[in-house]
Amino acid sequence: MELNRRDFLKGALAVGAVSAAGAGLTACAPAAKDNPQTAETGGIEYPAGLQESDFKESPVELAPITEFADEKTYDVVVVGAGTGGVPAALSALEEGATVAVLQKESKAIAQGGTCSGVLLDESDEQGVMNYIQGFLEDCGWRADRKLAETYCKYSGEAIRWTQVRTAEAGFPPYTVRPTAVTEYEDGSKCSRRSIMFGPKPFNNGTMVEHLAELAGKLGIPADALKKSVERYNELVDAGFDADFGKQAKYLRKVEKAPFWGIHKHVRVSALCAGATVNENYQATRTDGEVIPNLWITGFSAGQLCGAPDWSMYQGGMSAGHCIMTGRICGIQAATGGKLEAATPITEADVVAVSA
Ligand SMILES: Cc1cc2nc3c(=O)[nH]c(=O)nc-3n(C[C@H](O)[C@H](O)[C@H](O)COP(=O)(O)OP(=O)(O)OC[C@H]3O[C@@H](n4cnc5c(N)ncnc54)[C@H](O)[C@@H]3O)c2cc1C
Repeated sequence: MELNRRDFLKGALAVGAVSAAGAGLTACAPAAKDNPQTAETGGIEYPAGLQESDFKESPVELAPITEFADEKTYDVVVVGAGTGGVPAALSALEEGATVAVLQKESKAIAQGGTCSGVLLDESDEQGVMNYIQGFLEDCGWRADRKLAETYCKYSGEAIRWTQVRTAEAGFPPYTVRPTAVTEYEDGSKCSRRSIMFGPKPFNNGTMVEHLAELAGKLGIPADALKKSVERYNELVDAGFDADFGKQAKYLRKVEKAPFWGIHKHVRVSALCAGATVNENYQATRTDGEVIPNLWITGFSAGQLCGAPDWSMYQGGMSAGHCIMTGRICGIQAATGGKLEAATPITEADVVAVSA
């Protein structure tokens, strides 16, 4: 199905897509002629392998838009103003493109506070290779090596760009961590920078003098809390946590006030898998063929970690990866394929705005 401008707005890959629109909007699904499974229902063609029932629970809308209040033309259209989308739009603007941002909510929305990147100019080639190898190992050898290489190549510039642009706008990071340098046995090194925005609304829980009081504050039954603590203390005495497998080196008795407790909630912070991309984050068909003029940014782009759950190998890698992909996608869309900005941001620029 070749998507025209209207179909793209209505039902194409929605979040984190960057498209060079001046050249006409792009295809987001295999062409109908190549797709024996395409079904035609009420004028709607479904992408390969999908049918009407697949869209029943989906927010994706396939029906074509038929009424328009206005029509405008931009060089670049960014869909989704989040951690990847905003850098994409700003980077495309900086390269001289006209840009439209289509955002579901009334303003830009993103999560996360820490963003990290690899400082290539403060690392050596072998050190970066070792860093990538460690990442692949941490991901159980499932990670996408090419995307990891792209992260290492462009994330340092993206982090410096973020430092400079946020300082210019009056919102600099509240912490720039000391550069993390890993020195490997072979004498090589790899340096990374983490910057933090926020502060996040930390919930430090409750501290009290008596366990029963803690149960009341946390809204849990005091009897059950007492039993759990007694059982845990038994396991500490035994030196083996037969219930949850906590390592012996972390086993400490809960017996001395003050007592501290917090409600923890299960949450999803990042799903790091989505549309297929090549190493430059150009959208691809499942056979690897590039879909012209369409880039995917953010954590729905490719499978950096090789699975939907993401690695904690590098704190801030998720947001750092999103900013980096936004930047290179925006630059490519604006320039017709260049990966580097006309004026890349350097450490000297960071020093200049920090002075
Ligand atoms: C609470 C929390 C804390 C986190 N802390 C960290 C951290 O410290 N460090 C770190 O590295 N990672 C962190 N993460 C993960 C990181 O924030 C995410 O991986 C990252 O924000 C994903 O960016 P994205 O651009 O892919 O998506 P998003 O930032 O979610 O952007 C998607 C955007 O698309 C918009 N949108 C959605 N649907 C549509 C539509 N149909 N049309 C148009 N627009 C649409 C949304 O409004 C949103 O603005 C955290 C995540 C959470 C939830």
